[in-house]
Amino acid sequence: PGSLVCVGLGMMLGAHIGPRARSQIEQADVVFVAVSDPVVELWLQQMHPDVRSLQPHYAEGKPRHQTYRDMVESMLVEVRAGRTVVGAFYGHPGVFAKAPHDAIAQARREGFAAHMEPGVSAEDCLYADLGIDPGRLGCQHYEASQLMFYRRRIDPSAYLILWQVGIAGDRTYRRFATGPEYRRLLVERLREDYPADHPVTVYEAATLPITQPRMDTVALRDLPDTPLHMHSTLVVPPCEALQRDEIMLARIEALERAEA
Ligand code: SAM
Repeated sequence: PGSLVCVGLGMMLGAHIGPRARSQIEQADVVFVAVSDPVVELWLQQMHPDVRSLQPHYAEGKPRHQTYRDMVESMLVEVRAGRTVVGAFYGHPGVFAKAPHDAIAQARREGFAAHMEPGVSAEDCLYADLGIDPGRLGCQHYEASQLMFYRRRIDPSAYLILWQVGIAGDRTYRRFATGPEYRRLLVERLREDYPADHPVTVYEAATLPITQPRMDTVALRDLPDTPLHMHSTLVVPPCEALQRDEIMLARIEALERAEA
């Protein structure tokens, strides 16, 4: 019977792939690949004779949900044909990525074995490059557009990471970039929780061993005129100290006294 495994290739070419992902790729009948860099596709082609790009499903003007449906269907066709299928995605296949989750769920609904192998995501690289431990003060992750479309409660005493900031505010789901006017609205939303001169960092992990990560820190007010790309992530450090919960602390103290 056919099967599906979605694996993560990590962010940096050749540097982050795990042994399990590598052996899944080597043992597959067919490997589908969705990566942002054509060089990564070439690298994968050296690992397997039948590597098929999912990239052509992306097109300017085509709704992204249609792109994801087409990607899922391409993989499922081969699973249904009884083949061992691998979907190889850059980063972690389950982090801010719809097609791998959908493909696995669909394969399972149709009775096929399907699972995910985690990978090194942009988030992991960010912690390493920027020296952030998400456990120290806490860390919130949102898609930038979702933060604009919905009322979310930001905790300004924790880190805030905004994904897909380069297309913040895009409701067409067809664009590869939104302009400064959209970013001005994002800044307006963030100004509800952060001062205008708050430092924010545009982060782009290195994807080749010969390149350096981008880590550009600007004042929040200057974000609209800062160049952003499809692969930019925005890091907003806390602007407030942790607030003690005096009531909870008093109750814990009471427990401690009772135990003494
Ligand atoms: N699955 C991917 C991962 O594990 O990192 C994330 C895919 S998501 C569709 C695309 C978003 O991931 C981008 O908008 C950006 O926020 C982030 N991203 C992708 N490549 C990046 C890079 N090289 N550096 C920083 N963030 C990146």
